Amino acid sequence: MSQVNTIRGPIDSADLGRTLSHEHLTNGSGGMEHTPGLMDTPTRRQEIVDRCVEALARVRQSGIDSVIDLTPFDLGRQMWLFQAVAARHAEHGVNVVCATGVYRWVPSVYFGWTEDEVAAHFTREITEGIEGSGIKAGIIKLAWDLEARLDEGRFAPRVHLEKMARGAARAAKATGVPISCHTLATDALGTPLLDLFESEGLDLRAVTIGHSNDTTDMAYLTSLAKRGATVGLDRFFSPDPAYVEARSQIALGLVQAGYAEQTCLGHDGSAAGFWGRWNPDRRPDVWTLVPDHEVPWLRSHGASDANIDALLSRSIRATFEAAAGMARR
Ligand SMILES: [Zn+2]
Repeated sequence: MSQVNTIRGPIDSADLGRTLSHEHLTNGSGGMEHTPGLMDTPTRRQEIVDRCVEALARVRQSGIDSVIDLTPFDLGRQMWLFQAVAARHAEHGVNVVCATGVYRWVPSVYFGWTEDEVAAHFTREITEGIEGSGIKAGIIKLAWDLEARLDEGRFAPRVHLEKMARGAARAAKATGVPISCHTLATDALGTPLLDLFESEGLDLRAVTIGHSNDTTDMAYLTSLAKRGATVGLDRFFSPDPAYVEARSQIALGLVQAGYAEQTCLGHDGSAAGFWGRWNPDRRPDVWTLVPDHEVPWLRSHGASDANIDALLSRSIRATFEAAAGMARR
């Protein structure tokens, strides 16, 4: 067992229970709270809180105990929202873990920082708390996408992505907190990330390579698991039967290859997000596709109760425990 920071304080890793590995209460971009028309009125803020509480209550009914929110500040993290959702815990009962870290377009504010300065900043958000909110980050988010292809000159996005990844690895080792990565799976970006983490001496069991069900390349996916990492099958956007089958087949493939203990599930869903326009239609069921559609599909195609427990509970818990073990050494 180890301790996991949630928005209501630390819990035992054993109490995470069934966990969605990659979600967002809200998301958009850093500073969006100052953009007129988005969330600058009390009415809209109340609407955002209500939606998140409703979505959490809905997913709790589907048997989920914990949700990991992977929204660092530059993706629009809102500490007032976490505080409001924590205050209404009795209405939903879900543990929420929030993140430090960085999204895919490294903000220019970091350009002059060293790896160790990045690590110190992430470490502060984990050990002291975020923006004076009293809430501590429980996980480090790191995102590598298309921008990783741009590797020309000292201001190339790749240079900054590598620096942030080294900073994340050092903060993970110092604090005993896992790293969860947004990756462009079709570019197999989990591989260079694991190489880099390995060169920093990170225990790869503390790493989740996310958005991995955006590819069906099983050789790539099993290569990540063979190195000790957890494979995040954390994109799930539709209840359409053909979609459910295509996505669930990837999870079944990893289960059949013997990697259920290193595979975790989620949606990359946002209950009250601002990627694109504000959606006036309420979506309280944004986080229920995995428990209500993918899990039943897996069961009906041969996955056992033990497999489902591994996918939803043990895999993600193990990343927290491996990370904690690193900090104790
Ligand atoms: Zn995401």
